[in-house]
Amino acid sequence: MNKCCAVTLPAKMQDVNIQNYINGEWVAPTSGAYLKNYNPATGMEIAPIPDSKSADIDNAVRAAKSAFPMWSNMPGVERATILNCIADLIDQNCAALATFESQDQGKTVASAAAIDIPKCAEYFRQFAKYVTEGIRETESSMKLVCTTSSINKMVPSSQRATTQHVASGVAALITPWNFPLLMVCEKLAPCIAVGNTCVVKPTELTSVTSYLLTHILNAAGVPKGVVNIVFGSGVNAGEPLVKHRDVRLVSFTGGSVTGAKVGALAGGLFKRVSLELGGKCPSLVFSDCDLEHAITTHVRGAYQNQGEVCLSASRQYVQRDIYEKFLDGFRKQVCQEVCVGDPANPKTFYGPVVTKQHMEKVTSYIRLAQEEGAKVEFLVNPNDPAVMNVSADGRLTIEGLEGGYFIAPTLITGIKQSSRVMQEEIFGPVVCVAPFDTEEEGVQLANDTQYGLGASVWTEDQKKLERVMRQINSGSVWGNNWLAWDDCMPFGGMGCSGTSREHGPWSLEFYTETKVL
Ligand code: NAD
Repeated sequence: MNKCCAVTLPAKMQDVNIQNYINGEWVAPTSGAYLKNYNPATGMEIAPIPDSKSADIDNAVRAAKSAFPMWSNMPGVERATILNCIADLIDQNCAALATFESQDQGKTVASAAAIDIPKCAEYFRQFAKYVTEGIRETESSMKLVCTTSSINKMVPSSQRATTQHVASGVAALITPWNFPLLMVCEKLAPCIAVGNTCVVKPTELTSVTSYLLTHILNAAGVPKGVVNIVFGSGVNAGEPLVKHRDVRLVSFTGGSVTGAKVGALAGGLFKRVSLELGGKCPSLVFSDCDLEHAITTHVRGAYQNQGEVCLSASRQYVQRDIYEKFLDGFRKQVCQEVCVGDPANPKTFYGPVVTKQHMEKVTSYIRLAQEEGAKVEFLVNPNDPAVMNVSADGRLTIEGLEGGYFIAPTLITGIKQSSRVMQEEIFGPVVCVAPFDTEEEGVQLANDTQYGLGASVWTEDQKKLERVMRQINSGSVWGNNWLAWDDCMPFGGMGCSGTSREHGPWSLEFYTETKVL
C-alpha cells in the first residue's frame, strides 16, 4: 500500500544538512569530505556538499540494482500512484523549494515558483498518466499503448509479433546547475515511471533542492533503493557512476566538453546514452516581422534566468533595414524593464550568476569583445537605486549584496562572426546582435555554428517563415516565438548540442529497451 505523508522541509538554509540518499537512508560520504557551497547573491557559504567518491557510487548502484526486480515488476498503476504523490508534495512545498532554489542558484524566487518547481510536479504527473493511460495519438506521432507493467506496441494487422518496451535496469542521471531541480525531475519522472531504478548525480554547484527532494521521495513512499541521490563532483562521483558496470543507461545534461567525455565513456562500455548539451542559439529577425513582439521576446530570450539557459537567444541577427530600430527598441526596453539585483525581490528580472568562477568566465568574454574592438554596452536601468557601480567588464555592485556575482545586461554589436564571443556558449546575460541582408545570408549565419539546439525566425510572411525554419539546423526552431514549450514534443540538439531526444514518448523510448516477442 502506498503511503503519501506530508513532508516537513527545513525552515531555512542554515538547517539544510546535505547527505547522500542511498537505499532510503541519509548517509555521509564515505570519505567524510565536503565541498564548499555559496549563495551567489551574497557570496556567503551555505550548506556544504558531500564530496562522494567511487565507494558511495558503488553503494548507491548496489541499492538500485537490488530494488530493480521489485520496482520493475510493480504494476504501472501502483508506480503511478507514487509518482502522483511526489507531484502533490512538490506542489505543496512550491514556495519553500523556490526560495531554496533561488538561494542556491541565484535565479529569482518568482521564476523558480512560476516555472521550475511547478514543472517538476508536472513531469511526475505526466509520466504517471502515460504508464496508466498510455499516450493518445493526438499527443504524439508515436502510438504507445501501455499495460500495467510494460508498454506494448502492436505490429500492424498480422499481429504475429509484438514489440515490448521494458525497463532497462539501473540508470545514471547526471544534471547541470541552471535549472537544478527541474533537470533532475525531467529525467527522474520518466526513468522510474517505466520501472527503472536509478542513481542521480546532481551538479555539485546547486545540490540543495535535490537533497530536499529526497525527503519528498521518502514521504511519497518510494521504496528503498529505487532512487538514490549521490552528491559530489563530476570527476569523483560522476565518472565512476558512468563507468559502473551495473549501470545500463546514462542520461546526461551539461556542457558539450563534458558531454563528449561522458558519451565516449558510456558508448565505449555499450551503455545506452542520452546527451543534452550546450547551445548558442540564433534568431533571424526579418524586416517584415511584428517588431514590438520581436523586441520584447528577444529581451526575455537574452536575459531570462541570467542568460543561463541552454536555449538562450544569444545570437540575434536582424535584417539591415530594421537593425538600428531593433537595437534602439531593445536598449530602451532593457533599460526600463530589466532590473538586476536581489533574487528575492519580486521586481527583479534576473539575479546573480551561479558562482564566482562563472562570473569570471562570463566577464572574460566581455573583455575579449572589448579587446577585439566590438561595441559593448551595459544596459543598466538608470533609475535602479540598488545598482551602486558598474565595472569596466560589466560586474554590478548591488547595494546590500556587495559580495554577490551580478553582471549587467550586456549588448555586444560590431563583433566578427568568427569571434569566440559569437561562436562559444557564454551562458550569461550577454547577447550579440548583428545585421544581415538577404534570406540566404541570414540562414548561413544562423547555421554557422558547432551547436544546433534552438533557433527562432521572425517574419509575418508565412511562406518565408516555413522555408527558413526548415533550413535551420536545430533540434527546435520556433516561428515568431522563443521557448514555446510543449512537453509532448521531442527535445534535443544537433552537433555539439547533443545526440538524443527526450520528453514525452521520446523519454519513454529512451528509458526502455525495445524487445520483439
Ligand atoms: P557540466 O558539463 O560542467 O556539468 C554537468 C554535470 O556533469 C554535473 O553534474 C557535473 O558534476 C557532471 N560532470 C562533470 N564532469 C563529469 C565527468 N567527467 N563524468 C561524469 N559527470 C561529470 O555542465 P554545467 O556547467 O553544470 O551546466 C551548464 C551546461 O549545461 C551548459 O553548457 C548548458 O547549455 C547545458 N545545458 C543543456 C541543457 C539541454 O537540455 N541541452 C539544459 C541545461 C543545461
